[in-house]
Amino acid sequence: MSTLKSLAKQLESGEVTSRKLVEQSLSKIEETKKLNAFITVLGERALARADEADKRRAEGKSIGALDGVPVAIKDNLCLTGTRTTAGSQMLSKFEAPYTATAVEKLEATGAVVVGKTNMDEFAMGSSNETSFFGPVENPLEGTRIPGGSSGGSAVAVASDVVAAALGSDTGGSIRQPAACCGVVGLKPTYGRVSRYGLIAYASSLDQIGPFGHTVEDCATLLEVICGQDIHDNTTSARPTENFAAKLDAGIAGKTIGVPKEYFAAGLDAECKAAIEACLSKLEKEGAKLKEVSLPNIGHAVSSYYIIATAEASSNLSRFDGVRYSYRSADAHNLFDLYAKSRSEGFGKEVQRRILLGSYVLSSGFYDAYYVQAQKVRRLITDDFNKAFESCDVIASPTMPGLPLLRGVGETDPMAMYLSDIYTVSLNLAGLPGITLPCGMAGGMPVGLQLIGKPFAETDLLSAAAAVEAISK
Ligand code: GLN
Repeated sequence: MSTLKSLAKQLESGEVTSRKLVEQSLSKIEETKKLNAFITVLGERALARADEADKRRAEGKSIGALDGVPVAIKDNLCLTGTRTTAGSQMLSKFEAPYTATAVEKLEATGAVVVGKTNMDEFAMGSSNETSFFGPVENPLEGTRIPGGSSGGSAVAVASDVVAAALGSDTGGSIRQPAACCGVVGLKPTYGRVSRYGLIAYASSLDQIGPFGHTVEDCATLLEVICGQDIHDNTTSARPTENFAAKLDAGIAGKTIGVPKEYFAAGLDAECKAAIEACLSKLEKEGAKLKEVSLPNIGHAVSSYYIIATAEASSNLSRFDGVRYSYRSADAHNLFDLYAKSRSEGFGKEVQRRILLGSYVLSSGFYDAYYVQAQKVRRLITDDFNKAFESCDVIASPTMPGLPLLRGVGETDPMAMYLSDIYTVSLNLAGLPGITLPCGMAGGMPVGLQLIGKPFAETDLLSAAAAVEAISK
C-alpha cells in the first residue's frame, strides 16, 4: 500500500521518477480492469505530465511534495480536453471545455491525473451499479457492491492503482464507498471546496472531497483543493488551514457524541459490535463518550430524497438533446427531440429521480413535499447544533451493515436508498464527515463515521487520526 506521503518521499529522494510511478499506475489499471474502476484512462496525457514533473525536479524547480504523484478523479469532474461523462450515455461523448477548480488546484501541485473513475450515473446511487459504463466491482469481495456513487475512486485507491483520488458526496457518495472498500474518505463542510466544474446532481448538497489510505493524506488533499472561488459563490471566505496541524494531538479530553438513534434497530449486530469496540478503545485513550440525541433523524432519508431529486430534476433539464448532450437519431420534431433524447440518454435510476423531483416541485405538491422537506432539513440542522453543544465530534456507523450484494441497484432501489440512513443528514446540515476503517464484520471492513462542527475539519481529522492510531 502506497500513501501520498510515501510516494512524495520516494520522488524527493530520487528513488523513483514520476514517469515510473505513472507507468506503474497505468499498468495496474490494466491488471485490475475487471473491477471497471475507470471510464477513461489518460495514459498519454499523464506520461507527458510525469515527464514535465521529472524535468522540474531534475532542475531543482519542483513545485511541491505532490509534484509527479499519480492521482485519479471521479468522472463528474471536468478536466479540459478530456471526456467527462458523469457515468451517463447522455455525456458519453462530452469533452470538457474547462477544468473544475478542485482539479485545477490539484494539478497545480504537479499531481498527475491518470484517469477518470467510474461512478453511478450523475452520482445517483449508493451501489455503483447505475453507470452507463457498467458496474464497479468491490476489490475485497466480488459478490458485493463497492459502494457508490464514487465507487471507482474508492476502488482505485483500495486496489493501489493510485494513492489518492477525488470523489463527490451529495448524500454519502464519498463515505459509503470508502467504508465498503476499507479506505478513508472525507466529505468537507458545504462551501469548503468549490463546486465549479463538478457536474451538478443536487447543488445545495454536493461537495467534492478526497479518498486516501490515511487520514493524513486526506488532510493534505483537502488543503490543496479547498478555498474560496470566484466561480462558486457558495464557497466560504475562510482561509485555507493546515488541516494536518492536530493529527498527533490524540483524543484525550475530547467528548465524542454518540447519537442514540444511530445505534438502535436497523444496524447490523456485528458492525455495531465493531464500532462499539472502537469507541471503548477511544474511551481508554481518554475520550469521554456522551449519549446525544438527534430526534428528527428518522426523517433524514425521506427529506433528502425529496430535496435531492427536486434539485436534480432542475439541474438535469439542461440535457435536452440540443446542445452538448446525447441526441436521439430518431427525432423528427421538437417534442421527439426532447423526449427521445432524454428517454434514451438517461438510465432508469436517473429517470426515476427526474420524475420524483418534478412531482415534488409541481404545483399542488410543492407545499406538501418540497416545503416540508426543507423544514425538516432545518430541524435536522438544529438537532446537530444542539448535540454539538455538549460534544466535540459525533461518532456513527457509515453503513447499516455489510456492503450489499451486487444487483441491489437494479432490483431493490428502496434498499439502496435506505442504506443512506447514516450519511445523508450531514449533507442536509452541510457538516463535514470522515469515514475510516475501524474493524471487521463478516470478513469486510467496517467504516466508522465521524461528524464535525461546520468548518472544524482540523479537529475532525485530529479525532480521525486517533481512531486510525488505535485501529492499526
Ligand atoms: N446514495 C445517495 C443518492 O443516491 C447519495 C449519492 C451521492 O452522494 N452522490 O442520492
